[in-house]
Amino acid sequence: MARKPDIFDEIILFLKENPAAAEGANLSPELAEDFFHGQKRIIPSGSPAPAPATAPAFTQTVRMPAPGITTPPPPQPAKVLGPVPDSASLDWPELRQAALHCRACGLCETRRTVVFGEGPTDAKLMFIGEGPGADEDAQGRPFVGRAGELLTRMITAMGFDRAAEVYIANVVKCRPPGNRTPLPEEADACIGFLKRQIRLLSPKVIVTLGATPLLHLFQMKGITKIRGNWLDWEGIRVMPTYHPA
Ligand code: URA
Repeated sequence: MARKPDIFDEIILFLKENPAAAEGANLSPELAEDFFHGQKRIIPSGSPAPAPATAPAFTQTVRMPAPGITTPPPPQPAKVLGPVPDSASLDWPELRQAALHCRACGLCETRRTVVFGEGPTDAKLMFIGEGPGADEDAQGRPFVGRAGELLTRMITAMGFDRAAEVYIANVVKCRPPGNRTPLPEEADACIGFLKRQIRLLSPKVIVTLGATPLLHLFQMKGITKIRGNWLDWEGIRVMPTYHPA
């Protein structure tokens, strides 16, 4: 039986007649045809979900923003997917492997890579940031984006060679979506890796960057008042400072 034309036919026609719009929407007419009239149906997030009694028997429903409308995703509660690894007795290779395979929080679902940290394991100077951004997530290395350029310049200005003399790590090893601050549950799931990194490295000095490492290593809120004052973490001198971002 012939199918009655619907709103999706209009969209497909529009995409065919306006290739530039199709490109902007990242949706070719063929793909739209396949999605709208094939196995999957995309429902603009502004429209009500189809009622089960009257909805056709689609095998899968995918919610997408309506074309041209960008709504920020609602904050999602942190998920705990697996056990928090006990890293207290691990050596460097074991610790890295445990982090690379960690699924203790929801960040493992959106990460591209696990950014374990890098630097010589006998470094006397350690920097601790918040968590990987997009560039770090893509490359699997800490501080390689714009904030990383500034950090590298800071390290050089201090008279150190970043690659040869400095260990760099983050509170969380996986990128929080949209570079948001890690949720407390995410930091709690990950902080054991950082604490083990600090204990294995046993540096002379740690520089913490921004509020997040202060919060999760010292339970101190805010960076403005405390920055520039020496702290002590298990006998290691810690200098809190602003995050280069
Ligand atoms: N910001 C951080 O806190 N860490 C990174 O690795 C990169 C940017």
